[in-house]
Amino acid sequence: MKILAIGQNYVEHNKELDHAHPEEPMVFMKPDTAILRKNRPFYIPDFSNDVHHEVELIVKINRLGKNIAKKFAHRYYAEIGLGVDFTARDIQWKLKEKGYPWEISKAFDNAAVIGDFMSVTEIENVQNIDFRLDVNGKTVQKGNSKDMIFSIDAFIAYASRFFTFKIGDILFTGTPSGVGPVKVGDRLEGYIFDRKMFDFKIK
Ligand code: ZN
Repeated sequence: MKILAIGQNYVEHNKELDHAHPEEPMVFMKPDTAILRKNRPFYIPDFSNDVHHEVELIVKINRLGKNIAKKFAHRYYAEIGLGVDFTARDIQWKLKEKGYPWEISKAFDNAAVIGDFMSVTEIENVQNIDFRLDVNGKTVQKGNSKDMIFSIDAFIAYASRFFTFKIGDILFTGTPSGVGPVKVGDRLEGYIFDRKMFDFKIK
């Protein structure tokens, strides 16, 4: 399986990182070795002093597809969940400055936390999903899928032009504002509406 992710998909987050408004989805990938399963601790890697949390809605692909039209994109997933796109911000900035791909800052081991999923039948409107991240009991990131620049279906239509979607692939759909560094001892709890989707510690 593979993880496809979209960057810079929320206006407020782009302001905080000083990104321009994207004209096309900015897509990147994480390998399956990046997956950190639900509620396992995240160990801060020795190569970074500035690992940021990015809470994101995630989508589980359940059909094989290529060149998927936007109007049919909803047929390719039945579950939406919550994850964390861990990012070694210090490494990312360094690589960006050089104009290099910033792969290692986002694709390293355990950089993709996959929490619980819920059925889309439990969700009234996929483009109106409230989610949030609490760190040590305090809400630090709050988002709603209506604020995505590119909707889930638009992301699927775009990315499937380049990559064949396979059953079990996961999409990370971008983070709202409020990203920041994690430190040893932090407890991260993620919610969709009021349902807890993950709960783990930083070590
Ligand atoms: Zn992200």
